[in-house]
Amino acid sequence: MNILVINAGSSSLKYQLIDVDGKNVLAKGVCDRIGIAGSVIKHKTYDDRSINKEVVMENHQEAIKQLIDVLTDQQVGVIKSLDEINAVGHRVVHGGEKFFSSVIIDDEVLKTIEECEELAPLHNPPNVIGIKACNEILHGVPQVAVFDTAFHQTMPKKAYIYALPYEYYEKYKLRKYGFHGTSHKYVSERAAVLLNKPYDQLKIVTCHLGNGSSITAVDCGKSVETSMGFTPLDGLAMGTRCGTIDPAAVTFLMNKENLSTDEMDCIMNKKSGVFGVSGVSSDFRDLDKAVAEGNERAELALQIFSYQVKKFIGAYACAMGGLDAVVFTAGIGENNPDIRQRVCTNMEFLGISIDPEKNNTRGIEIDISTDDAKVRTLIIPTNEELAIARETIRLIS
Ligand code: AMP
Repeated sequence: MNILVINAGSSSLKYQLIDVDGKNVLAKGVCDRIGIAGSVIKHKTYDDRSINKEVVMENHQEAIKQLIDVLTDQQVGVIKSLDEINAVGHRVVHGGEKFFSSVIIDDEVLKTIEECEELAPLHNPPNVIGIKACNEILHGVPQVAVFDTAFHQTMPKKAYIYALPYEYYEKYKLRKYGFHGTSHKYVSERAAVLLNKPYDQLKIVTCHLGNGSSITAVDCGKSVETSMGFTPLDGLAMGTRCGTIDPAAVTFLMNKENLSTDEMDCIMNKKSGVFGVSGVSSDFRDLDKAVAEGNERAELALQIFSYQVKKFIGAYACAMGGLDAVVFTAGIGENNPDIRQRVCTNMEFLGISIDPEKNNTRGIEIDISTDDAKVRTLIIPTNEELAIARETIRLIS
């Protein structure tokens, strides 16, 4: 079965065509600068054929048309006709309180996703546009929505209600939602497989550490707590996002610097995090280089980040009343031994202890714990596209 996985942003549309039975990515690519001058489609096949061409793409419909053209192209195509696309799986960022799991998209579902736009004004509208564009071009091909928030809908109320006047939750649905759900679900399920233990009997902390980072407590297969909140700004300090800070710091700074809400939003989302602290970069590879050259603020940024990860692991072990495994995933979690080492240092009291040699690994599934560690520490590369493709198959079959 071939599933087309679509991740639509405001001016870009990423896609993968996945042969789920063979677990093969047949082709993947991105339509970039949609609706902007110089729009381009970059496409690569499983056997290294590729194309990188400028084409006019005024809107997402035209982008879908282009990607169908390249998927069926004689030179760089991987299928002969549209009939070989069995279904489409869409990444949808926000499902609000409406969606506890993935769903087959019909008119009613699409309307409900549109109703969630208020909660994710930057992310949900392009997702909806992508769904509508596929509807028009791939008539009759089933489409499935897989939500970033759905996995966290099992959190108890004590975890997701903010201590603000309750009426704001009732009026605006202002609460913690959590994100990266597809990734946290995928890696926690993989952890159970690797540990050869029943998923519904494990207490796992999953650390998705990338440009955006979040940590989740997965208790017996259910998300019970997660570090991102109403928006993906909360929780850990990230590449450019500040994460949790004293809320009063926001109003203080707005008054002192005479900032508008948009300006403050931009500072917290784009100018903070390890970038803001170091003044060097949001990319951990650049920070590692700067640290090697003696840059103290880059070192401070790495210390802040790993200290926060460590604190979340401890807090979530307490929240679950125990801990069987810690999982590191995403760009930093999979590829940065130094951050994993910093996080796991002095955690023996909790049962966490990693082997420096095993930790010196990148991007593969591996248990990096010392043999006698009570809590297993795993690296599990995330694969959100494969998870979306599998969810899509599960729903359509
Ligand atoms: P992501 O958002 O998951 O793509 O993660 C981006 C972060 O992961 C950046 O800070 C990168 O420094 C880091 N990263 C990604 N790939 C690598 C790699 N191969 N080696 C070291 N760091 C990496």
